[in-house]
Amino acid sequence: MPLKITIRPFEKRDVAKKVEWINDPRNNRFLHYDLPLEYDKTVQWLERNAGRTDRVDDVIEADGVPVGLIGLLSIDRKNGKAEFYISMGENDYKGRGVATRASGLMLEYAFRTLRLRKVYLYTEKDNLSAQKLFERLGFRQEGLLRSDVLSRTGYADRYAYGLTLFSWLRKSDRTPLYELESFEGNRIFIKREDMIPYSFGGNKARKAALFFREIDGGDYDTVVTYGSGHSNHCRVVANMAAARGMKCLLIGPEESSDETSNSRLCRLFGAEQTFVPVKEVHDTIENTLASLREAGKKPYFIPGGGHGDIGTEAYVECYDEIRSFEEENRVFFDRIFLASGTGTTQAGLVAGMLMDGDRRRVEGISIARPNPRGRDVIRESVKSYLVSRGFGADEEEIDRAVIFRDGYIGEGYGKADPAVAACARRALTEYGIPLDLTYTGKAFYGMRETLRRENVRGETILFLHTGGTPLFFDDMKLF
Ligand SMILES: *Cc1c(COP(=O)(O)O)cnc(C)c1O
Repeated sequence: MPLKITIRPFEKRDVAKKVEWINDPRNNRFLHYDLPLEYDKTVQWLERNAGRTDRVDDVIEADGVPVGLIGLLSIDRKNGKAEFYISMGENDYKGRGVATRASGLMLEYAFRTLRLRKVYLYTEKDNLSAQKLFERLGFRQEGLLRSDVLSRTGYADRYAYGLTLFSWLRKSDRTPLYELESFEGNRIFIKREDMIPYSFGGNKARKAALFFREIDGGDYDTVVTYGSGHSNHCRVVANMAAARGMKCLLIGPEESSDETSNSRLCRLFGAEQTFVPVKEVHDTIENTLASLREAGKKPYFIPGGGHGDIGTEAYVECYDEIRSFEEENRVFFDRIFLASGTGTTQAGLVAGMLMDGDRRRVEGISIARPNPRGRDVIRESVKSYLVSRGFGADEEEIDRAVIFRDGYIGEGYGKADPAVAACARRALTEYGIPLDLTYTGKAFYGMRETLRRENVRGETILFLHTGGTPLFFDDMKLF
């Protein structure tokens, strides 16, 4: 079971722990206390602060064990803002998602209970792991304050980070998750990524939002990406580019360049589509980027399907949403099933699981790629992401965590057999949920077949609906 994370007010009984934590060199590199911190002075500090309403000092508990400190300083009601701080104390609880979840609770308190409109913080330029945490929480870097604070090695530069109520609300907008059915003695829940409120939703919308956060932070004028005529990814990217008045170039394989709702939408958004034989795709992309640069343009390339660490990050965030749902509803999903293509979505869920130290099965149903390649690509994505976040990547642990089933591909990408179509028709009729036959239909069918064949009983299972609604309409003729 996941650790239960709570925050509660700092009390006198916590003083000894605080003194121990702050004096621990593993914790205090970026803290600005007069060391060593003394017990008596800390008691005085606590007594001095009693009754103050301009600060909140809390203790983080994991399964009831105090593990760190968190709070808000300089609470300014007139301007509706406060400074955030967090400091993990117990080393055994680091790297397990505790800081992320405790911060989530404190932000919830700041925005919902105190009704603040902005939370800000300062972090030393060299404190990379803190910056990753804050960015993951949705904080944006607002500036560099030079020579700002006295540290052990002299005056250090600090970044100012801010999180506004508006962007916090958008970030905490979770997609719907609810119980769908009982199947062969298992409880099946569904999470509706198809209901992400942008361009018909889907996992590509969640990924593209993060790519465009990077694009918006730079001075790019052109977006280049890769995808077939069926591509949900291309549709979302073309939509986001058009909304910004940016030029969008789509390069795809001639072999799957058929006209679909997605390719028509891409044209509607004014994207330029180029199809070349699949062997030439790589060079065409390189040449396109090179000639754009020569012409003085600033292109940004998004890998096909939103693959890469940024795309993976989007599904680490989704994993956090799933965890929050579990905690609030006191359930635990033994397995999560989803449609897996490039495997980025699956890699994000697996990375989130490993970072949080959870044990459960994340099962990708391949929609095209066979093993071993399909599985290997996901392993690489998980590893790359964990390394980029400063986590250790234990190869064996990653191997065990990546479950990629290639038994439901049928005739290949975009081709589904009649059993899948029948399953999708029933899901629409019984639950009003569209499943396309390229991705989610195959995955839903694959999930049920797996449960049946492996005689799985009494488990709690989550199906991640990854979207693809425009494809659903293309596929309707097969229903
Ligand atoms: C792209 C896509 C997938 C597969 O996602 P990957 O991250 O590439 O594995 C699944 N479902 C739908 C609807 C998609 O568009």
